Amino acid sequence: MPMATYFTLIFVALLLLMLGLKYWLALRQIRHVAAHADAVPAQFADRVSLDAHRKAASYTIAKQRLGLIEATVGAALLIALTLLGGIDLIADRLAQLVGRGFAFQILIVAAVVVVTALVDLPFEWYRQFSLEQRYGFNRMTPRLFLIDLAKSVVLAVVLGLPLLAVVLWLMEKAGAWWWFYAWLVWAGFSLLILVLYPTLIAPLFNKFEPLKDATLAERVQQLLSRTGFSSRGVFVMDGSRRSSHGNAYFTGLGRAKRVVFFDTLVQRLSAPQIEAVLAHELGHFKLRHITKRLLVTFASSLALLALLGWLANQAWFYAGLGVTPALDARNDGLALVLFMLVLPVFTFVLAPLASLFSRKHEFEADAFAARHASAADLVAALVKLYEDNAATLTPDPVHSAFYDSHPPATIRIERLLGAAG
Ligand SMILES: [Zn+2]
Repeated sequence: MPMATYFTLIFVALLLLMLGLKYWLALRQIRHVAAHADAVPAQFADRVSLDAHRKAASYTIAKQRLGLIEATVGAALLIALTLLGGIDLIADRLAQLVGRGFAFQILIVAAVVVVTALVDLPFEWYRQFSLEQRYGFNRMTPRLFLIDLAKSVVLAVVLGLPLLAVVLWLMEKAGAWWWFYAWLVWAGFSLLILVLYPTLIAPLFNKFEPLKDATLAERVQQLLSRTGFSSRGVFVMDGSRRSSHGNAYFTGLGRAKRVVFFDTLVQRLSAPQIEAVLAHELGHFKLRHITKRLLVTFASSLALLALLGWLANQAWFYAGLGVTPALDARNDGLALVLFMLVLPVFTFVLAPLASLFSRKHEFEADAFAARHASAADLVAALVKLYEDNAATLTPDPVHSAFYDSHPPATIRIERLLGAAG
């Protein structure tokens, strides 16, 4: 059997494995959540109403069902683009229009990105205006949805297109080590985005104001000086423009780093609870979680680009994925876009590792918060967050171990209460 046939078989087998795993995990989650929908777990019984608990179950199940449809459509689209000849068809049309030169390399990547984004768009619309709407979370108007979409497209063109052009240029001109130079460019670009995101990109979508509640200011100031964090780094964002979900997150790098609270969260929490959540986010900074995550990303992207450097020269890589490479022209764009499309199929089984890593960081940030603020206040804030977001308190353990970036509510709160002693 030729190498290309082996590669096709491996690709199809892994795609089916991925789809099977996604179905199995989603059905486990649906069954587990439904089975526990009629009783609030004992440790939450005095804080979460049965109505809220049932709403969380129903919301979780609805999201899982939508996820199943999305996964199925995603797999079908992948097969249509690769083995069923979609990319070949687009490439032929493009070659007739612009030939097989540098413009072709850029346009073939852009065309496939546009096709996948167009397939994704109805799901985004449905999620916002049907699913989120039904559970009372949507605050977006169709107008705002379209404005956001237009801004995202402009950002993708302004930031993504030049990066793509540089990488394709390196593939063509930089010789056997192109992938190393491309990695340097990509790493520099990522760092630049991290620095620019809080001050230039995020404000395109939301308003950010310093946290300036008078009763809070004193507590926050004390916490910041206790932990050695710049006092200009705490902001409130108008998340309520789009959704009533509440959250807090940290972002940026170096002097651009920020902790951001959604206005919806600030309204719901007491001053000591906000302090506890802030302490958790500061924990992520102090424990260098951003740096560690960056190092892992940089190391794995170097390995992946080296792999692409090798695959781009293998005829079976194209043929095995149903794509006919040009014999008398370069195939850089094809190699790049095929690699981006099929990579998730090959890395899906690694998802639990990333989740494990992330949950470890969450436990560490919780422990930091328990040391520098009140564990009991963080627990109270978390309970409100779970309730406001209709996040399930009773996830299936296997589903949670596979996907969840945050530990399950019961385990997380047990540990915090243990710390509170
Ligand atoms: Zn966290």
